[in-house]
Amino acid sequence: SFVAGGTTLIDLVKLDVMRPTRLLDINRLPLAQIESLPDGGLRIGALVRNSDLAWHATVKERYPVLSEALLSGATAQLRNMATTAGNLMQRTRCPYFRDNVSACNKRTPGSGCAALEGYNRLHAVLGGSESCIATHPSDMCVALAVLDATIHVQAANGGERTIPFADFHLLPGNTPEREHALRLGELITAVTLPPPPVGARQHYLKLRDRESFEFALASAAIVAVRDGDVIREARVALGGVGTKPWRSPDAEAALRGKPATEATFEAAATAALRGAHGREHNAFKIPLAQQALRRALSETFAT
Ligand code: SF4
Repeated sequence: SFVAGGTTLIDLVKLDVMRPTRLLDINRLPLAQIESLPDGGLRIGALVRNSDLAWHATVKERYPVLSEALLSGATAQLRNMATTAGNLMQRTRCPYFRDNVSACNKRTPGSGCAALEGYNRLHAVLGGSESCIATHPSDMCVALAVLDATIHVQAANGGERTIPFADFHLLPGNTPEREHALRLGELITAVTLPPPPVGARQHYLKLRDRESFEFALASAAIVAVRDGDVIREARVALGGVGTKPWRSPDAEAALRGKPATEATFEAAATAALRGAHGREHNAFKIPLAQQALRRALSETFAT
């Protein structure tokens, strides 16, 4: 395994949940640059710290949804350590995954899932399976989903390839232990962003409660373009409710070509959660996510 900021991996090694046979410290690789690209896009090195990314002038000006998402999550101390690639590789906060005792298909494939009938208040209502309903915890990734990011990776033999952001994180299905599209030995080197649509409004909104300060109960990321009263383009993603960063084509279709009104936002919120599946303790997340999306849209189009 590769170690950069260490905010996930070292924790999990201490808990004896992950037992890498070999750890490779990659902090000295030259991957900590943020560079503007000739096409107007941005290249973010894998080792760029979350705090440097959040406060970078170009990010604040051209990709505010990314800056807002980074600043909405974690503590300043964690942000100073956490890296771009580490954020992409963040593991779930499911307590059963981390306790090393409970049945958990993600930690020990085939052992079952204690969360299905257990205390599943923080678990996902979108994208779950009978094998796993663990929530993807990242805020940054929800913003990257609406920014149409591309992940750049390098294999051990030097070969390079790119992975569209939407294909990077995997749904749990029957193999919740497989979380991403990286092949053995591949290292993330950078994330690139295309230029944002001209005139795009961007926003990230996160709702949380007292029990969970750091991790979103529900969040929404928006990139949208308005043409007079009509929404010309809309990209929507939800956080805190899906087993992966949850881009919602249904919500986008409900917005595109429609007037920017509360009724339209309501329709988009309904569409976004249409396939949701609540369980004993987490069903409240369905209306909560709808509320997050409605509010995020209202605030995006407020002026
Ligand atoms: Fe493990 Fe996933 Fe079930 Fe949590 S939800 S116990 S991570 S299988």
